[in-house]
Amino acid sequence: MTDADEAIKKAKAYWQKYGYETDDIMIILRDSGRYSPELIGYQKSRQVVVYLDKAASYQVDLAVAIAHEIGHVYGIRHYDTDHAIMRGTAKELKGLRLL
Ligand SMILES: [Zn+2]
Repeated sequence: MTDADEAIKKAKAYWQKYGYETDDIMIILRDSGRYSPELIGYQKSRQVVVYLDKAASYQVDLAVAIAHEIGHVYGIRHYDTDHAIMRGTAKELKGLRLL
């Protein structure tokens, strides 16, 4: 299993623990490319995109970045929850790890 597969598995396991359905969520991991957005990723419907280069440059753990975007799939907004991984800035996500 690659590091990316491991991170996806970990991120999904995080939400499964809280009873959320993760099977049909599509995770796309790629570099941000020439647009170089100031965000680590985004979510649209049940699809999640995480930019590998951004997560690395902001030093946000890949599993945390994926889990954050998955949280948006469930309609969870920044700070609307006790989940630390739903904090709104890369700086606040830096150093977090999933169990
Ligand atoms: Zn977010």
